[in-house]
Amino acid sequence: MMMIKFYVASKGDHKSNMIKSMVEKYLLDFDLEISQEAPELVISVGGDGTFLHTVHDYFHRLEETAFIGLHTGHLGFYADWLPEEIEKLVIAISRRQFEIKEYPLLSMSIHKEGETKPEKYLALNEATIKKIEGSLVLDVKINDMHFERFRGDGLCVSTPSGSTAYNKALGGAIVHPSLSTMQVTEMSSINNRIFRTIGSPLILPSHHVCQFVPVNRDQKFLLTIDHMTKSVENVVSLEYTVAKERIRFARFRPFPFWKRVRDSFISDEY
Ligand code: NAD
Repeated sequence: MMMIKFYVASKGDHKSNMIKSMVEKYLLDFDLEISQEAPELVISVGGDGTFLHTVHDYFHRLEETAFIGLHTGHLGFYADWLPEEIEKLVIAISRRQFEIKEYPLLSMSIHKEGETKPEKYLALNEATIKKIEGSLVLDVKINDMHFERFRGDGLCVSTPSGSTAYNKALGGAIVHPSLSTMQVTEMSSINNRIFRTIGSPLILPSHHVCQFVPVNRDQKFLLTIDHMTKSVENVVSLEYTVAKERIRFARFRPFPFWKRVRDSFISDEY
């Protein structure tokens, strides 16, 4: 059997670093090999924030890498293993007793004036657009059809696994990650007799394209892609689709999505 190459990423605090060292030691005892450059398994130790950072570091090798999240704070959506479960986890890894579960990602392209090639990004949770000053005004197009002119604080486009994050706070629906979709939610849209937006979150299938076209190209925008923030100018359009790439999770035990939702938002006392 081929030796598994792994990498353990830590949030950087004392507890996470201790757990990282422990996991590494156990896995090395089982003759696994550490490889930061080309790991087959990446174990993220910390919280969901650490998981997002770690996944972004390996977006270039999504087909070869599977992810596991271990939490050192409260239960996370991606970081769902407890430090007390390390031994169980290490034994399962060494025996390759895991299945791969794939979840959809979001693809965003930024088309700028004078640039022939768009800048491309992948998101695990969501991508948002806001204005640095004043209201955001842009045209929303779906599959090249003009849908609405949006005025308000911003827009959020989320993945199904990101639907429980920022999207949820904006009143979006929680979407099961087996559905290859993306969801567009509004941040405080202006609605009166003159300005009108749909007002409801939109869930689009994987073959649809959503575009945001700024009404005025001289504006500066603030974009977020998961934990990252970026300021951009001279934007002709932003294009969003469900990505061709998918993220692979190593699953060692069943942890149904709806149980994770219940345990995180309602109660885990049942
Ligand atoms: P962070 O690590 O402080 O994360 C913020 C919170 O979001 C944490 O409690 C984390 O557990 C939770 N979270 C992250 N992904 C989640 C998911 N898929 N489902 C449920 N909860 C999730 O901050 P960060 O490192 O900057 O993380 C960025 C994320 O924070 C963004 O992707 C965004 O979804 C989220 N966020 C949420 C709000 C909000 O709810 N109002 C506002 C801004 C950002």
